[in-house]
Amino acid sequence: MRFIKWWFPLAAAALLAAAVLVHGRYAAVQTDAAPPPVLLIDPGHGGADGGAVAADGTRESDINLDIALRLQALCRFWGVDAVMTRTGDDIDYPAGADTIAAKKVADQHARLALINGTPGAVLLSIHQNKYPASAPHGIQVFYGPQAGSQDLARLTQAALTEQLCPDNRRVAAPAEGSIYLMKNARCPAVLAECGFLSNPGDLAALQTGGYRLKLAAVLLAGYMQYIRGVDP
Ligand SMILES: [Zn+2]
Repeated sequence: MRFIKWWFPLAAAALLAAAVLVHGRYAAVQTDAAPPPVLLIDPGHGGADGGAVAADGTRESDINLDIALRLQALCRFWGVDAVMTRTGDDIDYPAGADTIAAKKVADQHARLALINGTPGAVLLSIHQNKYPASAPHGIQVFYGPQAGSQDLARLTQAALTEQLCPDNRRVAAPAEGSIYLMKNARCPAVLAECGFLSNPGDLAALQTGGYRLKLAAVLLAGYMQYIRGVDP
């Protein structure tokens, strides 16, 4: 009995200490284990939604997709995890989505489900701009309200401006609240307007594969700087 009296409090203290240590380690593991980043590449529009159309008939959805596919290929080359919201121009719409508006809504919901269901997602939507006048040109990156979005946008805008359009005075800006994916993504989210289909110079550049590859490479550079914590 004397042995048990001596032994019991010591064992209880040891167990308690072990429990505290294990709990502490477990808690630390849980909070530190952020999922590895995954670049969520979103080629804007597609399917029934061609997006903006240039005077010569060039469709925004096709240019967005081509840049996105080049970006996906670069990601594979560099071993960067990436997921595409679409890889072609065919989109499977649910039964009952009969109008273009209903198809667009269903498509946006499906893309959001993919984005928000991907641990570690960092969303990059690729779009082209269009304006009633032909003069406006250049690249501009917009960002959602999520933590990290503004940093990613600033890094991406800086890389694009420096590499592709040094005279560009556009700066990263908040996305309009009406842009569904920017508003509802639960991850860092940016939207790159890579050029104006209404500007002859931008359009001519966007119609060359070499320029679309450059865009993809610089978009990837902005993302890499972001996930490596470069100060924007
Ligand atoms: Zn667009």
